[in-house]
Amino acid sequence: MADQDISPRIALKADRRRPLVAIIGGGLSGAAVAYHLALTWRDVQPAIIVFEPRPEIGRGLAYDTRDAAHRINVPAARMSLLPEHPEDFLQWIIDNDAVADDPEAKRENGSVFPRRQLFGQYVAAALQPLVETGAVRHRQAVVTDVSRDGAFWRLSDSQGGQTFADYLVIATSHPAPSTPRNLAALASHPRFVADSTVAGSLDVIRPDDNLLVVGNGLTAADVVASLASSGHRGRITSISRRGLRARGHAPATQEPFGNFDAPPIRSTAWLLRQVRQAVVDAAAVSLTWHAVIDQVRGQGHAIWRNLPVPERRRLVRHLRPFWDVHRFRIAPQVEEVLDQAIEKGRMEVLAASITHARIHGDKIHVTLRPRRGVPVERVYDAAVVTTGPAHGGILDSQPWLANLRNHGHLQLDPTGLGLFCNDRSEAIGGDGTTDPTLLISGPLARGTFGELMGLPQITEHAVFVAHELAKKVRSAAVTG
Ligand SMILES: Cc1cc2nc3c(=O)[nH]c(=O)nc-3n(C[C@H](O)[C@H](O)[C@H](O)COP(=O)(O)OP(=O)(O)OC[C@H]3O[C@@H](n4cnc5c(N)ncnc54)[C@H](O)[C@@H]3O)c2cc1C
Repeated sequence: MADQDISPRIALKADRRRPLVAIIGGGLSGAAVAYHLALTWRDVQPAIIVFEPRPEIGRGLAYDTRDAAHRINVPAARMSLLPEHPEDFLQWIIDNDAVADDPEAKRENGSVFPRRQLFGQYVAAALQPLVETGAVRHRQAVVTDVSRDGAFWRLSDSQGGQTFADYLVIATSHPAPSTPRNLAALASHPRFVADSTVAGSLDVIRPDDNLLVVGNGLTAADVVASLASSGHRGRITSISRRGLRARGHAPATQEPFGNFDAPPIRSTAWLLRQVRQAVVDAAAVSLTWHAVIDQVRGQGHAIWRNLPVPERRRLVRHLRPFWDVHRFRIAPQVEEVLDQAIEKGRMEVLAASITHARIHGDKIHVTLRPRRGVPVERVYDAAVVTTGPAHGGILDSQPWLANLRNHGHLQLDPTGLGLFCNDRSEAIGGDGTTDPTLLISGPLARGTFGELMGLPQITEHAVFVAHELAKKVRSAAVTG
């Protein structure tokens, strides 16, 4: 049960013998830090409070969805809260007979791709006993302001509370997507959906609407799958600059293949050559590209660390779209829905950008500039933006983040992927100094850690952050 104290001013001064760790964000990242700090590092016994407005800790943006068409995009056997037990989620599914009502979850090759909400249920169930015993406090509130108050971090929240913490972990990950500038004129259209991750946002789309989907990744796939399950039968045009579609999984499970961390690869071009060669070598032993990309993912931290910052920027600028469609794989059930829609000619995937958009009557008129060819004018009944969270704008996405930036505690990382931190996940402020009491957990730390968008990397990083916090608390206890 969440912390029910909603008195207008609660002041939680840290007990000097029990330092307080405040975690902002109770999605997978914040939940995993709290879980591992509370259970694995019992000897240090810090007080832990997680700020999360959702009723449960552990779901966050990805796993809070109630839409049955939304599936995990990594097989259940690789999604675990416990990195040392990769099959923990799969075992939980078996123990709880959790896909009994979902015959599509199990695939012919034995892999399991359940509904996404089930993973949220698994993480929330792991956290619940800790919340009930008070080992982890769930403050069901939005943090509205954070500032320094002597040795403490002072947090104000939407329930009128004030909390004074010794250590602060930022685990808020995904800001809302920002509407591309060229689509701003559509904002007032009743069937323009700027953020499809908001529950019920697709309800405005009518069954026969001719739909434009801006973006072509996993969020777009979610949208098409959701609409198919709710009976949408209109035409769909899905566009992205390169027209690349998220790829599916390998037909059979494979071990990762290749080696990319030694000798250290120092340039993007070199990395690309190595990956291409590994794909050729993998094919020679009957493995697919999936095995190579899995190895790149697994060694992502080392690869990233070996690249100088200008090369990291080059990689983000030139290779990211290709990386995204190979690394973020689509669940097989969702892939089938998309394949069918394309085969039946109901859906087209275009390499194009929008140069102009306007509302005319109840229609949406857009000028599409194809990657090759001449611009064309198209008319749609509805449009959905699926370009994903605007991580580059993270510091302006919430007032307290802007405030921390304005007071020199935070800055954007040099690749623009998230918040700048060192290799201990400590935030690096505007003047380049690190703050050992301010840590970043999850995807917002990927500018430093490289691949950090999905499991198992997110949980591995959370274990690392919990470990770092435990060391700090322990050494403070010794010196204090
Ligand atoms: C739609 C989607 C589907 C995905 N599916 C998969 C998958 O199947 N497999 C996989 O491996 N990875 C997947 N990922 C990637 C990864 O697992 C997710 O990104 C995961 O959500 C990361 O969790 P998080 O806690 O870091 O971030 P989030 O889920 O964004 O959680 C952040 C939390 O912070 C809270 N918060 C924000 N601001 C405040 C504030 N001011 N005060 C208090 N709380 C605040 C939010 O309410 C939110 O719950 C998916 C990602 C997305 C976006």
